[in-house]
Amino acid sequence: VFRIVLRMAERFKIESPNVRYSKDLIEADYNYNTTQVYEENGVTKVKPCSTTFTFRTERKVPKLGVMLVGWGGNNGTTVTAAVLANRMGLSWMTKTGKKVANYYGSLFQSSTVCLGSGPDGDVHIPFRDLLPMVHPNDIIFDGWDISSLNLADSMKRAEVLDWQLQEQLRPYMEKMQPRPSIYIPEFIAANQEDRADHVIHGTKAEQVQKIREDIQEFKRTSGVDKVIVLWTANTERFCDVIPGVNDTADNLLKAIEVEKPLLPSAVPSVTCEKHRQNPGLYGMGGGEHSVIFHHFWLVSYRCLFLVSSLPQLELEVSPSTMFAVASILEGCAYINGSPQNTFVPGAIELAVRHSVFIGGDDFKSGQTKIKSVLVDFLVGAGLKTVSIVSYNHLGNNDGKNLSAPQQFRSKEISKSNVVDDMVQSNPILYGANEKPDHCVVIKYVPHVGDSKRAMDEYTSEIMMGGTNTIVIHNTCEVSLVISVLITSVLEFVICYVVKQLQEGV
Ligand code: NAD
Repeated sequence: VFRIVLRMAERFKIESPNVRYSKDLIEADYNYNTTQVYEENGVTKVKPCSTTFTFRTERKVPKLGVMLVGWGGNNGTTVTAAVLANRMGLSWMTKTGKKVANYYGSLFQSSTVCLGSGPDGDVHIPFRDLLPMVHPNDIIFDGWDISSLNLADSMKRAEVLDWQLQEQLRPYMEKMQPRPSIYIPEFIAANQEDRADHVIHGTKAEQVQKIREDIQEFKRTSGVDKVIVLWTANTERFCDVIPGVNDTADNLLKAIEVEKPLLPSAVPSVTCEKHRQNPGLYGMGGGEHSVIFHHFWLVSYRCLFLVSSLPQLELEVSPSTMFAVASILEGCAYINGSPQNTFVPGAIELAVRHSVFIGGDDFKSGQTKIKSVLVDFLVGAGLKTVSIVSYNHLGNNDGKNLSAPQQFRSKEISKSNVVDDMVQSNPILYGANEKPDHCVVIKYVPHVGDSKRAMDEYTSEIMMGGTNTIVIHNTCEVSLVISVLITSVLEFVICYVVKQLQEGV
């Protein structure tokens, strides 16, 4: 059933001096024309400039492995289930009739591009046929989660897919078990503690080493040619960028290396909430020890804090940055699907040093994607947008995690950034320090589950004192939207980025 077919999706040939075909490669030269603008003696001068790129694509599609961090979450289980259902051509009955597995919503699998004009007008082909690229049905999944549930039970917990489909997928998904993961409670909401029963213990260096071994083991046992690691775990709080800790690649590696072994959970006595919330400081384990023991360590650490920067080193390297470091050191592309600042300057420098592709932050598929398009349209049309109010409510575990202030703040920053460039581009409408009122609200309403409601109001000033108000309402199962986006992101990364980087072009 799971036979992998490596597709050679070349349905047409380009006849151009800029495109060369060899047995293994397609090479295309592309001139990227831009302009350079500079000032000379008070005059603004504009100079055309052109850069030639050579894009090289392997004609043989690699066997792709994807490791999801947060595999047991709504996105992780939904994307795995959707790929399995498509691969097996499953169908199922719902109250509105028979449904058949498909990839509607996938840029590559379900959209077309115009190849040019033929005798009978425009010729459109599926986007996926433009270049040889991995088909999502051929992706092999693996991953990590702090929750030990197998993928079938996690899919049930997610409440995204129809029950009859889940029943058909269960025999396959119950055999899939996430690997234990790195858990530092300080970074995600305290309300996630209940599911954290599947964690890697040890120092940060040992944890990063374990993730590297997991990647190596997956590569070896699955026989995949390339691995992409994708963070679709809970949104973390932002971490501080601290000189000497995470500001350069060497400092980041040192911060992971020098950390002393975490303290043992020690003498059981009373439950210590502070310990539970910060095992990075007090030691992983049951979170139970005597009050005297607790105060002893607290005082010791405070003294240490005065004489060294060790506690800061520990606290400002997040699990997602540790996954990024492990992935980069293994030469695997890393995608950050959540809004936190995983890519601190040290992580970016490390990726550049190893020529590894990293991408992020945060999946944008609905409300925020529309916002960037709509603000571009409004301001580009010369309307002065003065207020943008985005309200959401959702009831899945992502919503529960985002109901904590620090995790909400990460999302708020990533949702707000998208209008800044457009506003800065138009000094006719906006003064130097002027920008629209921009408000983002996210509420957790368990009853609606994965079916997120998003309401947006855009108010713009139009000539002669007029007001233009656009209101948008959107209801959708967010994990389905994101799962299909994940398949496109993976296809894009493997086809356009990883190959080109690894070929050194
Ligand atoms: P989810 O809560 O259902 O899944 C997250 C999973 O991550 C859980 O199973 C949790 O146990 C696990 N987890 C938490 N910390 C972990 C760690 N350190 N290591 C390994 N696993 C860990 O959430 P979701 O709906 O699947 O969303 C996942 C992420 O994608 C969230 O950060 C969310 O903000 C982001 N995102 C989602 C959407 C969307 O519309 N679905 C859009 C943009 C971004």
